[in-house]
Amino acid sequence: MTDPWHMLSDDERLLCEMLERVVAEKIAPLAAETDETACFVSRQLSVLAEFGMMGANLPERVGGPGISAMALLRAVEIVAAGCGSTASAMTAHFLATDTILLGGTEAQQNNWLSDALTGKTLGAFALTEPNAGSDPADMRTRAVKTSDGWHLTGSKCFISNGGLADFVVVFAVTDPDAGHRGISVFVLPKETPGFSAGPAERTMGLKGGHVFSLSLDCHLPEESLLGEAGRGFKTAMQVLDNGRIEVAAQSIGMAQAALEMATTYAQERVIGGTLLSERQGIMWMLADMATELSAARLMAQEAARQRSLGKRFTMAASMAKLHASEMADRVADAALQIHGGYGYIRDFPIERLTRDLRIMRIYEGSSEIQRNIISSHLLAERRTS
Ligand SMILES: Cc1cc2nc3c(=O)[nH]c(=O)nc-3n(C[C@H](O)[C@H](O)[C@H](O)COP(=O)(O)OP(=O)(O)OC[C@H]3O[C@@H](n4cnc5c(N)ncnc54)[C@H](O)[C@@H]3O)c2cc1C
Repeated sequence: MTDPWHMLSDDERLLCEMLERVVAEKIAPLAAETDETACFVSRQLSVLAEFGMMGANLPERVGGPGISAMALLRAVEIVAAGCGSTASAMTAHFLATDTILLGGTEAQQNNWLSDALTGKTLGAFALTEPNAGSDPADMRTRAVKTSDGWHLTGSKCFISNGGLADFVVVFAVTDPDAGHRGISVFVLPKETPGFSAGPAERTMGLKGGHVFSLSLDCHLPEESLLGEAGRGFKTAMQVLDNGRIEVAAQSIGMAQAALEMATTYAQERVIGGTLLSERQGIMWMLADMATELSAARLMAQEAARQRSLGKRFTMAASMAKLHASEMADRVADAALQIHGGYGYIRDFPIERLTRDLRIMRIYEGSSEIQRNIISSHLLAERRTS
């Protein structure tokens, strides 16, 4: 089979091979225990920080490794294949640092990113609210200008890393009459008086990647406004374009792990004197799984290619996320089916993987929202041509 990652540079290829070894030795072996205990993935994030991965999304200009969008896609895949919770917490941190990179001034980037990219500090990205998930422009969190800064009031929900993060990027309405142009983004240190997080939510999967409700009634200094007032929504959408490629990468990494589990199992399980892998029905299932996975990876690579050109890639990112997240569910379900009853037993990792994967179709814009984005781009293109 040809190498699906032939476009990576030699250095990036080496980096990914080293990351694969680190994940196999130090992260994947903790995945089952993490799921069982629901402990936050701090140890795993420390391993990634030591490897330099916590700043993998950042360019050299701010001290990051400056790897290509394609190498980042591959790196997220590798981490997700080893542990979904770790990949989720890591990419939530990327959303926070991407927000500072894309929305902040140079001084703000220097101030916040140097510790974040080494993993010394952890970030969270707070957009969703109890009544504003799929339609974040409908948010209610308010930021009112004071003589020396901003007063924020409101609440956020389902915020990955939220109660554990050293800093949170928070989106709030600064001009209620300006629609999405009245939304701004602030960076809030965790020790800010009036900021608090509830207990970690009890989730179906990704049990080591904790999500929290956040409550805000706090004063922030002037310099906590990232960039200019009114640009927060645009920044959020740009960050989510990046994030959706990373959700596609998580989905592909986990689907790859599911396919490998199913293949191994089918080559070991003997039924009626015949290996499962010799039954045509099972062979066809494996073939369909591999084909779907390969198609999803190509779509994600196309989105990463467009990202690296510096042009708009919203539609490609949405398509990659939509297809990869739905593919991953189908592949994991087929992998579980191939395991028979054992697939339903917690001792087999396919059970955890199937639960971990389910959120990919929901967070960073559900499949329905991706379809809305794709069709609105499609129809707009037709109207202008
Ligand atoms: C584990 C986890 C981690 C998360 N991490 C973060 C995070 O770090 N930061 C953050 O800000 N948020 C985070 N979220 C929130 C996540 O992004 C939202 O849950 C998601 O965007 C959906 O919003 P909602 O839950 O309010 O669903 P709703 O908006 O209430 O949607 C409910 C259903 O209606 C559908 N729907 C909504 N609008 C339409 C429409 N126009 N047409 C058709 N169908 C529609 C949706 O697809 C969905 O199926 C996280 C959520 C979870 C569960």
